Amino acid sequence: MEKIKNDIVQYSKILFERGLVSGKAGNISTKFTKDNKEYVAITPTLKSLGNLKPEDISIVDLDANPINENKPSSEVHMHCDIYKARDDIKSIVHTHSPFATGFAHSDKKIKRYEGFGSIKIPYIDEIEYIKPGTKELAEAAGKTFGENKKRDVIILKHHGIIATGINLFEAESLAEFIEDSAKTQFICEMLNSI
Ligand SMILES: [Zn+2]
Repeated sequence: MEKIKNDIVQYSKILFERGLVSGKAGNISTKFTKDNKEYVAITPTLKSLGNLKPEDISIVDLDANPINENKPSSEVHMHCDIYKARDDIKSIVHTHSPFATGFAHSDKKIKRYEGFGSIKIPYIDEIEYIKPGTKELAEAAGKTFGENKKRDVIILKHHGIIATGINLFEAESLAEFIEDSAKTQFICEMLNSI
């Protein structure tokens, strides 16, 4: 349990320092098993990911019921619904990283560049805008990941991104890759328009 909390703190800090999350935005989680029951360790609500401590981390069960006293992120249902839809997903990173979110607010899609995994799709999949923090958004995110076992990231229109992985390293790396892809595409389109 301590290692899991330390990992959440470490990857939260990486996201903050690399500019993928700012202020009190963004949330990350990882699923773990204890005494044959599954739980989720998730960042707390209303705290910056830049300076969390292990004792700040919230623990919930897969139905988002609290196990400790720390109030979880407002997107806790989104994390739980994705874990329930896909057993292979062990960690989730949700950010409003600037370039990817810029695309999310525009009518342009982010291209799926080569360089991460072996997924061959032209564009990152998207779901239409649903109010953040709602069970409707949680259900839509769970359904979207559940209907395609290869889907590892989605864009939430007018909101941000959700990246997933077999551990926090993979989910965080994918969130960085998507942000860099959006940045590269933006630069490319700017240059082509000169
Ligand atoms: Zn969000």
